[in-house]
Amino acid sequence: MRYITTIAPVHEDGTECTHSGRDQRDSDCSGRDGYRASCAGGGCTWTKSGTRANALAEDGRSHLTSHLTASFARRGV
Ligand SMILES: [Zn+2]
Ligand SMILES: [Zn+2]
Repeated sequence: MRYITTIAPVHEDGTECTHSGRDQRDSDCSGRDGYRASCAGGGCTWTKSGTRANALAEDGRSHLTSHLTASFARRGV
């Protein structure tokens, strides 16, 4: 099973911002309020929101590590 975490900018209301810099001015983009990291693969629904992409990237890495730990040593559940 392969898991991957992605980080996307989100609006203040929590919806993902897919506007590029130019679109932000031309569209009704409400502005970016932060970022959301999410895990894809195997039906995992882990998500985490924050204001700093770097911190979320770190959280995503440690989350992926927890997947690896679970698959290599499935015990104590
Ligand atoms: Zn936007
Ligand atoms: Zn996951």
